[in-house]
Amino acid sequence: MSDRQFGELRASSLYCTRCGTAQPVRERLLLVLPDRELHEYVCATCGDAVGTKEVSAADVVSARLAQRRGGRQVRIL
Ligand SMILES: [Zn+2]
Repeated sequence: MSDRQFGELRASSLYCTRCGTAQPVRERLLLVLPDRELHEYVCATCGDAVGTKEVSAADVVSARLAQRRGGRQVRIL
């Protein structure tokens, strides 16, 4: 059970305090910064914000590279 320590949150559903149970969420781009993006998870049922996620620019880039199956990892600082 050590898989969780890097906790990549692939949130298709999250616990919503207002609904009192896990709900499907929608991801919304909240803010774009030069080095990262801020995403927000909104409960699809009541519309409350239930969480946020930061995606670093390097992650965005490597995700795009992975799509192209280039295989080489590029680090951008
Ligand atoms: Zn809710």
